[in-house]
Amino acid sequence: MTDLLQLLKTLCSASGMSAYESPIRNTIAEIWEPLTDTIETTPIGNLIATKQGTAAGERPTILLAAHMDMIGLMVSQISGEFLKVRPIGGIDNRVLPGSLVTVHANDGDLSGVVTSKPPHLQTSAERKQYLSLDDQYIDVGLSAAEVAEKVSIGDVVSFAQAPSLLNETTLVARSLDNRASVAAVTLVLEQLQSRQHQWDVIAAATVQEEVGLVGAYGTGFDQNPDLAIVIDVTFGRQAGTQEWETFKLGNGPTIGWGANLHPLFYKRVRKVAAELEMTLHDDLLPRSSGTDAIAIQVSQSGIPCALISIPIKNMHTPVETVVLKDIERAAKLMTEVISGLDANTLDELSFKLGATDV
Ligand SMILES: [Zn+2]
Repeated sequence: MTDLLQLLKTLCSASGMSAYESPIRNTIAEIWEPLTDTIETTPIGNLIATKQGTAAGERPTILLAAHMDMIGLMVSQISGEFLKVRPIGGIDNRVLPGSLVTVHANDGDLSGVVTSKPPHLQTSAERKQYLSLDDQYIDVGLSAAEVAEKVSIGDVVSFAQAPSLLNETTLVARSLDNRASVAAVTLVLEQLQSRQHQWDVIAAATVQEEVGLVGAYGTGFDQNPDLAIVIDVTFGRQAGTQEWETFKLGNGPTIGWGANLHPLFYKRVRKVAAELEMTLHDDLLPRSSGTDAIAIQVSQSGIPCALISIPIKNMHTPVETVVLKDIERAAKLMTEVISGLDANTLDELSFKLGATDV
């Protein structure tokens, strides 16, 4: 039985900014390899692992897709002993000053901090100012000459926040978006070791979601699954947020309802959750879901997608926060959905002319 906390610590400690996913890809491959029948990387860098089902003949397939990349920074300029950076993905500039970072330089990682001008030296105008990335610097504690020797323009930079427990059930870490979902997929693969499932299951860890869902487009196309579940994070309820757009941590995963998502597949997942007596909140996404589901849905002749999300607080900061049982519940739900797939499922999930159920 996987120790979920240990699994999350391992996943969140691996680097892997969008387009530079090798460290996390290798980590996930090592974990998924014993749980699946085949494992491979695609030309763009997605990790695809397949676990065969028990049905005879050509089996339908369900894809579980979780992106593995994380947001970060890239060195854009070297200014004496300091580095200037540009964002990889949706960095929140406000949280950067005073944070610990790692500069992934050619000859090895360098520890750094994002500098912060002491409040005593700030003008009253500066104190009220929102500091843009152009006015922020990374200090790696080396001289200008050493920096010039060791750091290159284009080196990627990650948050150096180590995973840390707030209490037994609540973890703070960087990259819980979306390593929390990679952990959920891992739990599903583990649970399927002792569960019958007729369909083939494809687990995908996709690349470059944070910079435009890049890996997911190829995944839907080359795997061409009959159904897909995308697993991502959603907004946890926290001070200053609206109730309708956020979800309480510890109250279970959410299910997406909206334009990228298949209403009949949604209903089926809801039914399974009801049978499990699991609370499942609607994440209302009437237009774009902002997730890999957009890309997978439009592949081939259209792939029916469901979206299961795990609420986290402080999204896109070094202190993303999750409650472990939300991950466990998301996994349990997916395992039950998968083991309930049979020869009739695709017909049940097809739109019937004349029907008015959705
Ligand atoms: Zn994200």
